[in-house]
Amino acid sequence: MTDQDRSNLVELQRIDLKILAGQQRIRAFDPLLEEVEEPALVLESDAEKTRARLKEINLEERQLELSVAEKRERQKKLDERSGSVRNLREEAAVSAELEMVKRALQNDEQEALSLLDQIRKMEGRLEELDEAITEARAFVGPRLEELRSGHDTAEKELDTMEQDRENFVDAMDVMELRLYEGIRRGGRVTAVAALTEDGACSHCFGIVPPQLQNEIRHGKALIRCEGCGVILTVTEHGDELAEVMEAEEPAEEEAAVSQEVSGETVDEDQVDE
Ligand SMILES: [Zn+2]
Repeated sequence: MTDQDRSNLVELQRIDLKILAGQQRIRAFDPLLEEVEEPALVLESDAEKTRARLKEINLEERQLELSVAEKRERQKKLDERSGSVRNLREEAAVSAELEMVKRALQNDEQEALSLLDQIRKMEGRLEELDEAITEARAFVGPRLEELRSGHDTAEKELDTMEQDRENFVDAMDVMELRLYEGIRRGGRVTAVAALTEDGACSHCFGIVPPQLQNEIRHGKALIRCEGCGVILTVTEHGDELAEVMEAEEPAEEEAAVSQEVSGETVDEDQVDE
């Protein structure tokens, strides 16, 4: 292996952290977009419900109109019949039915009026809502535009970073890369850490046995920390690595990771080429 200080791994981790930050930047837009759009969305949902209800009432009203027309027709026929009854019994029957139809007609007409009243009010409300929506959209439009454009830019930046990573990885040592990816599997951020001057892992601060310290310093093999599993390296980028860990590593992953690591021994022969 030519890169004795594992500078490729250090650089890859740097790239990955930039990618992570880029992903976070993109995610950060979600609540902002939601917040800006919310007033308009609430109005729109209200308008949608009102529109659906209005449709229902209109349908009801049309059915009622049909029923009214039917009853009027019936009333007309009964009126005609009452002029040509042959006896009192027949007259009583016709007038009783006529009375019934008239009452039903009255009810229908009253109901139709009430529905028409509701329709009018609802149409008024809908008009108000549509105006408010237009106003709300106009108000948030520029801010929304700005957020969306920021979001798009962040996504493009991420694409570029991911492309750069691919190019970088293509030129990397396969074993280094495989080990690095293996450590990062499961969302872990730190895969490489510097060996401190006094022989500790700068990630978990566990002391590294002198024999392994030697191997790390001579860069012969990929050596992992026995405590936390990161690849240890002697690097002039030590400060940078430390910064990275402070900024990014979520604490709760530690337990699971060290478990995974303890069951696994680094295959130095295989890794070392
Ligand atoms: Zn460690």
